Amino acid sequence: MKVKKGDLVKVIAGKDKGKEGKVLRVIPKENKVIVENVRIVKRHQRPTQRLREGGIIEREAPIDASNVMVICPSCNKPTRIGYRFMEEKKVRFCKKCGEIVDKV
Ligand SMILES: [Zn+2]
Repeated sequence: MKVKKGDLVKVIAGKDKGKEGKVLRVIPKENKVIVENVRIVKRHQRPTQRLREGGIIEREAPIDASNVMVICPSCNKPTRIGYRFMEEKKVRFCKKCGEIVDKV
C-alpha cells in the first residue's frame, strides 16, 4: 500500500472527491483506507456499559485506497508516490518535488 496511517490525503475520485483528511486506518486486504472526516456514516449504537445512552454515532467508513492521493508534506500537493532505497530501507518519495515523504 502506498498510503500509510497518519498520511494526509486528498480524495481524487468518488463522491467524496476534493476532501482532505488524515488516514486513520489502512485495510491492505481490501485495499481500503479510513480517512478522517471523509465518508461519515451514521450508525445506531446499542447501549453499552461505556456508552449507556446508545443512540446514533457518526464514524468514518472505509473508502477505496485508489481514490486517494497522498499530499506531500514538502510541497503540499497531492502527488504520486515513488519508492527509493535509503540505507537499505524502502522509503516513499514525492514524484512532484522528489522529497522523501516518510520520516527516516
Ligand atoms: Zn512534494
